[in-house]
Amino acid sequence: MTSITPVESRPDGDASGASPLAPNYRPLPVTLASGSGSWVRDVDGLMYLDMLAGYSALNFGHRHPGLIAAAHAQLDRLTLTSRAFDHDLLLPFAAALTELAAPVVVGTPMMLPMNTGAEAVETAIKAARKWGYEVRGVAPEQATIVVAANNFHGRTTTIVSFSTDEDARRGFAPYTPGFRVVPFGDVDALRDAIDETTVAVLLEPIQGEQGVVVPAAGYWPAVRALCTEADVLLIADEVQSGLGRTGTTFALELWGVRADLVTLGKALGGGILPVSAVVGRADVLGVLTPGTHGSTFGGNPLACAVGIAVVDLLRTGAPQARAAELGRHLHSRLHTLRESGLLEASRGVGLWAGIDVDPARMSGRELCERLLRHGVLAKDTHGATIRLAPPLTIALDDLDLAVDRLALALR
Ligand code: PLP
Repeated sequence: MTSITPVESRPDGDASGASPLAPNYRPLPVTLASGSGSWVRDVDGLMYLDMLAGYSALNFGHRHPGLIAAAHAQLDRLTLTSRAFDHDLLLPFAAALTELAAPVVVGTPMMLPMNTGAEAVETAIKAARKWGYEVRGVAPEQATIVVAANNFHGRTTTIVSFSTDEDARRGFAPYTPGFRVVPFGDVDALRDAIDETTVAVLLEPIQGEQGVVVPAAGYWPAVRALCTEADVLLIADEVQSGLGRTGTTFALELWGVRADLVTLGKALGGGILPVSAVVGRADVLGVLTPGTHGSTFGGNPLACAVGIAVVDLLRTGAPQARAAELGRHLHSRLHTLRESGLLEASRGVGLWAGIDVDPARMSGRELCERLLRHGVLAKDTHGATIRLAPPLTIALDDLDLAVDRLALALR
């Protein structure tokens, strides 16, 4: 490992026009140039341990050899067709992904490929509404979807319409109607919010952006029972929680729950390109007939080649087992930091942790800046909370190094 020296901070982007880049992000002051596994190198040659892993888009690490090989092979063959024409990897990808997701989906699933996580969520919303009108007989334009407070499902105008994060929402009105917000984890509030207009309940199994908030053990089974009873679709947004992060292939497996629709993204693209999908009930996704929904890039040959390779990796069960094992180690070490008073709280499951620092001591941003100076990349979610989500391929020694550096940064 190259020795790590402090990094000068650089001016943040603003609206003055001095930078050609819009200021919608405030990245940490580091400029990366290459990466391999859990490590990245900046333009000055300094190395950093990546404890964010592209918000879980890099579950298999940077440039996983098998995934890169699959992408290279496909680059030399066929990259884009549009859905105007079929190609020879689209059905194999659909078969592989639906087989992988079958344990968490009601009935025999089908899939619809898109690109980003937000597009997968939009697709699920559209399918649920159309199913509500055409199958459930909900009165025209009356469909409602119940969502949770503190949700994060993406950045489109419809999705931010039901965000409770003012930074994400303010200024983007008029908002898309048809959403009801209830507290996350509150079964009674959810029951009260469901009526004859309700077509779906849309939830993250575990609220990632909120700081890896894991609901009580009885919550998801109760939500499933409510949805079944009311004939309302349960949509699980597994864009961040899915594909190994929780020590299971899908977070829903933690509670033995099946959803009607599951949204996937991030790690599905192997850290190489955006690949997302909705996997779910055939009678629900089946309402999206030709002309009603689509995407130029969704399900392109390159995406399918990488997606198939990702499913192949997960089919072995090895990344999930590793996430579970290393996760136990991570949570026990974080628990020790908590006991010693360095952390206010830590929580999570698998190789996924949310930690809170005392806001009187430092903000999450300041902690991440300190971590950066100690050669570790992490990102605050909000306030004094940061999320740790390294590649599932991280070495145990590297994980220990990250926690050692965290302790150092907290002192
Ligand atoms: N859904 C969840 C649960 C997410 O965490 C995210 C992104 O963080 C999204 C959807 C949106 O994904 P994307 O940024 O690829 O649009």
